[in-house]
Amino acid sequence: MTLQPLLDRIEHQARHYFGQGRVADYIPALAQVPAARFGMAICTTEGELYRCGDADEPFSIQSISKAFTLAMAQQRYGDELWRRVGKEPSGNAFNSLVQLEFEQGIPRNPFINAGALVVVDALYSRLSAPVHAVLEAMRLRAGNGVIRIDHKVADSEYEHRFRNAAMANLMKSFGNFHNEVDEVLRAYFSYCALSMSCVDLARAFGFLANGGRCVMTGEAWLPRLQTQQLNALLFTSGLYDAAGDFAYRVGMPAKSGVGGGIVAVVPGRFSVCVWSPELNSYGNSVAGIWALEELSRALDLRLF
Ligand code: GLU
Repeated sequence: MTLQPLLDRIEHQARHYFGQGRVADYIPALAQVPAARFGMAICTTEGELYRCGDADEPFSIQSISKAFTLAMAQQRYGDELWRRVGKEPSGNAFNSLVQLEFEQGIPRNPFINAGALVVVDALYSRLSAPVHAVLEAMRLRAGNGVIRIDHKVADSEYEHRFRNAAMANLMKSFGNFHNEVDEVLRAYFSYCALSMSCVDLARAFGFLANGGRCVMTGEAWLPRLQTQQLNALLFTSGLYDAAGDFAYRVGMPAKSGVGGGIVAVVPGRFSVCVWSPELNSYGNSVAGIWALEELSRALDLRLF
């Protein structure tokens, strides 16, 4: 089956899911995003690109950034990182505080907010210009030098930072947070507020499908083993507390964000990004999940 007609059909059908979810509004700047949007882009390991709908429209990548900052922390710390953050699914909401108290300030995995904050804290200790370094790394991976941070979104998150600040402070009380909380939060929110399109994200995360090699530059960016490990964690924990259902229905490593984007990977073949802002109760894009399920079914993509 060729990919372009399939994407066009999926786009057409995905629009039937409009109105079935809710745009995230706990970050006020995100609530202003128009709901009726759908885009999808596929980047093959050869760098061929297929796209449909609003695939070129930038949106707030939110938690998708957590997969990227984790890759950058893996490069710098290797297995040492896992002393500070776990590898298990959490079964709790992405912004839950309860588990953190029980588990002595060691977050369950790097994709819940507490885990991503520890990862960003670790990166912060090793980068001289943490915001600029991640932005530039992302631009290079995506092959797009004009990707920017939406400061309105970042400022809105900072103004409403109380829960994330609580997590970081709780971890600090357990000795698992080393830098100034507000500085790390600023960096974390800047990464979440990166404004990128499906095309940018499919390209930027091409390394996950390509054994760690960047699709745009050809550079070996992440060692193969660390790429496999990152994909394994995305498979078990990338979709908040709905990762099991996603593995069951779609069967790909993936990371979602409350901006409505989802990046998914078929190792050895392609990376894909889908975007539609309306979310289900777990914080995952309603039309996006359906679209990936349909893609997986049509191409028989399941790993098992
Ligand atoms: N910036 C968001 C937060 O920290 C990320 C949420 C998400 O996409 O899961 O609450």
